Amino acid sequence: MLTCDEYLTPRTLDEAFAAMATHRGRYRVVAGATDTLPWARQGRAGDVNIPVLIDVSKIPEMNERGANDRRVRLGAAMPFQRFLDDANLGRAMPCMPRCAVWFADDQIRAQATIGGNIINASPAADGTPCLIAHDASVELAVARGGKISRRKVALDKFILGPSKTALEDGELLIAIECDALPGYGGSFEKVGHRRSLVISLVCLAVLVKLDAAGKKFEDVRLAIAGIGPVPQRLTQVEKFLRGTPIDAERLAQAADMPVELVASRTRQDYRRDVVRGFMMRGLINAARRAGADAQALTGELEAAYA
Ligand SMILES: Cc1cc2nc3c(=O)[nH]c(=O)nc-3n(C[C@H](O)[C@H](O)[C@H](O)COP(=O)(O)OP(=O)(O)OC[C@H]3O[C@@H](n4cnc5c(N)ncnc54)[C@H](O)[C@@H]3O)c2cc1C
Repeated sequence: MLTCDEYLTPRTLDEAFAAMATHRGRYRVVAGATDTLPWARQGRAGDVNIPVLIDVSKIPEMNERGANDRRVRLGAAMPFQRFLDDANLGRAMPCMPRCAVWFADDQIRAQATIGGNIINASPAADGTPCLIAHDASVELAVARGGKISRRKVALDKFILGPSKTALEDGELLIAIECDALPGYGGSFEKVGHRRSLVISLVCLAVLVKLDAAGKKFEDVRLAIAGIGPVPQRLTQVEKFLRGTPIDAERLAQAADMPVELVASRTRQDYRRDVVRGFMMRGLINAARRAGADAQALTGELEAAYA
C-alpha cells in the first residue's frame, strides 16, 4: 500500500521546485499517479511510505498544448484523453488518436499523462513510439541557485532502458515538442493479452505521406515498442520505402525488415509474427488514410490485412 504524510499541489514551477528543495530526499513527483499507485499496490516495493508526494498536474505550463502546421507542443501533464478531444491535435499527430483510443480505459485515460508515460519508460509504453515517429524532444527544467534553467533532449536519447531515463535528480519534465504532420495518414497497431485495458506486448506507430496521385510513398515514419528494452525508430525501413510506389511485394519486404530486431526476453516467435503482420496492416491503414489511389492499394491487399 502507498501512504504519504503530505500531498502537495504546487500551482507554479517556482512552487514545485521550492517544495522539491524543502523535501529533498523525502519526496516523489506524481502527475496522474496511474503508474505510481499500481507500482506500490503490486508490492514491488512492499508497503511504501513516501513522506511527500508532489503532484505537478496543476502547473499551468505543464497543461499547455498547441499545434500549428509545423510544430506541436504538449505540456507534460496533458492527459491522453486530449488526443481524442482536440481535433487540431489529432490533425497534427495522425496516429495519436488511434493510440489514445486503445489506451487503458476512460477513467485512466483522463488521468494518465504523456509526461508520466515517458518518465515511466516502460518498454511497452504506447505514447513513446508515436512521439519518436514525430521526432519528439523533451524539455526539462531544474532550479539551481534560485534560477530555473532548461535543456532539451531528443526523446530517443532520453529513454535509456526499462524504467530508466536521462532525467537528472531535481529535474522536471515540462513539455514535449515534435513535428506536426498534417496530411499524413496515421496508424497505431497494438497487441496485448486482451484487447483493452492492457499493456502492449508490441505496438507500432506508422505515419505515411503520399504523393499527389496517391501512388508513391513521399515520406514514411515508423517506430516500434515492446520488442526490446527501448522504443525504436525503424529508419532502415523508412529509407527502403521512401520515394517508392505502393506495391504489395515491396510492402512485404518492408514488413520483414524489423523482424530481426525482436530482442525481448519472452515470446520471441510470437512477437516476430506480430511485427510482420503489424507492419503490413499499419502501412496499409496509414496509406489508405493518406488518400492512397484505389488501384495502387488494391482491395485484395487491404482485405488481407484489415
Ligand atoms: C489500468 C491501467 C491501464 C493502463 N494502460 C496503459 C496503456 O494502455 N498504455 C500505456 O502506455 N500505459 C498504460 N498504463 C500505464 C500508465 O497509465 C501510463 O504510463 C501513464 O501515462 C503514466 O502517467 P501518470 O501521469 O499517471 O504517471 P505517474 O504515476 O504520475 O508518474 C509516473 C512516473 O513519472 C514521474 N513523473 C510524472 N510526471 C513527471 C514530470 N512532469 N516530471 C518528472 N517526473 C514526472 C513520476 O515521478 C513517476 O516516476 C496503464 C495503467 C493502468 C493502471
